Amino acid sequence: MSIPTEQMAQATGPGRTAQELETRLTGSLFLPGDAGYERQRGSLHGAPEAVVDAETVADVQAAVRTGLPLTVVSTGHGTVASSDGGLLLRTSRMAQVLVDPSRRIARVGPGARWGEVVAAAEPFGLAPLSGDTPSVGVVGYTLGGGLSWLSRKHGYAADSLLRAELVTADGRVVVVDRHHHPDLFWAIRGGSGNFGVVTSLELRLFPVPSVYGGSAEFPVDGAERALRYLAEHGDELPDELSVSVVVGPESLVVRAVHAGAGGGDALQPLLDAAGTPTASTFRDMRYSEVSTIGGTPPITFAMYDELSADTIAAVVRSGVTVEVKHVGGAIAHPEHDDPGPVGHRDARFVMKIAAPAADEITASATGGSFLNFLHDTTRTHTAFTPDNFRRLREIKAAYDPANRFHRNHNIPPLGRPGVRRFR
Ligand SMILES: Cc1cc2nc3c(=O)[nH]c(=O)nc-3n(C[C@H](O)[C@H](O)[C@H](O)COP(=O)(O)OP(=O)(O)OC[C@H]3O[C@@H](n4cnc5c(N)ncnc54)[C@H](O)[C@@H]3O)c2cc1C
Repeated sequence: MSIPTEQMAQATGPGRTAQELETRLTGSLFLPGDAGYERQRGSLHGAPEAVVDAETVADVQAAVRTGLPLTVVSTGHGTVASSDGGLLLRTSRMAQVLVDPSRRIARVGPGARWGEVVAAAEPFGLAPLSGDTPSVGVVGYTLGGGLSWLSRKHGYAADSLLRAELVTADGRVVVVDRHHHPDLFWAIRGGSGNFGVVTSLELRLFPVPSVYGGSAEFPVDGAERALRYLAEHGDELPDELSVSVVVGPESLVVRAVHAGAGGGDALQPLLDAAGTPTASTFRDMRYSEVSTIGGTPPITFAMYDELSADTIAAVVRSGVTVEVKHVGGAIAHPEHDDPGPVGHRDARFVMKIAAPAADEITASATGGSFLNFLHDTTRTHTAFTPDNFRRLREIKAAYDPANRFHRNHNIPPLGRPGVRRFR
């Protein structure tokens, strides 16, 4: 172990050194120069002063109490901030997954990935509101909203959150649900890692014994017809059916999942509009198999109230891959009487554009964004309505007034215009 750095000694207070931190940990501490430091840091941006590979809630508390700027990482799939000069808190070893089939609940640790939850729930005919990729972390995904193939039927993953345990900025362990700290419970259902380090989540599971899903490929000349069908008839699709039209430079692909077996009838008119398929994988399948359907990297993400003829034309001639998804359903009409701050539920279409700039395509976008697909942290506020962003900032001021948790999509506490620098 190397000598503790000046910053760590200052941040942890007199006499509280890295060695002292290490004695408090069940998990492991890595400092620059230690064997394992580089592996722990992985491909993440920045050179942290220390890495805590946590195993217990007490480890998370010890890391928070160091006072060092904190970057929390489960899988690294959504890490948007550098860990330079701070503490990198890894939670990947806290990957417990428990399923209670009678209550239709999954309880997961902060290192759990969706693939593990889906596998644990599937034998009971249940499914969580997971995304298209099994390796994505449950906590980061859920706190950022969580757009699933099942979201039109059951809402965002954040809407399925029942209870959470988190370590707040003062190092306390707090359990939140609709009756306990309801303000904090509201904020974390979309406000991401701004309010504490989550150490467990309880999520609702849904009966999904099987789905009908897959993708079909068409000649690209059907793209305009398929998008026009989506623009005109998307709102008529049943909430069970979630569809994407993916327009690439040389191909057109329709991806879809129907929550429950069958569903081909509701999908058929869109497939007809797209043309004659050159390949198709549509069939009844287990929910775990939706991960074979694929996704599009959201280098640019945009939301739309309407899919206008101009926008459709811009997508078709763009020469880049664009996935157009119809949203609505339970996303727009959540069951919860005080749904979390995941914003812009009234947008009817979203697009994932596999290119950094797409001005023509985004010309008629609403300007709203979705935290899980937002790489530019200067636009964090655009993921929320102005009212919700203000409420988030008020709650942040109550629970993290010094903005301890700022190495993320930061929501600055009300009363502080920007991010507080610790150095
Ligand atoms: C291949 C791929 C497919 C994807 N598909 C979807 C999809 O279908 N739907 C969708 O909505 N999103 C999707 N995403 C986006 C994904 O939801 C976000 O990137 C999410 O942030 C990933 O969470 P993570 O825990 O895996 O990543 P991490 O990088 O480990 O965490 C991301 C952020 O979440 C916060 N966080 C993580 N753990 C904690 C914790 N314990 N306490 C507090 N805050 C925490 C932190 O702010 C952290 O910076 C996809 C991403 C990828 C790479």
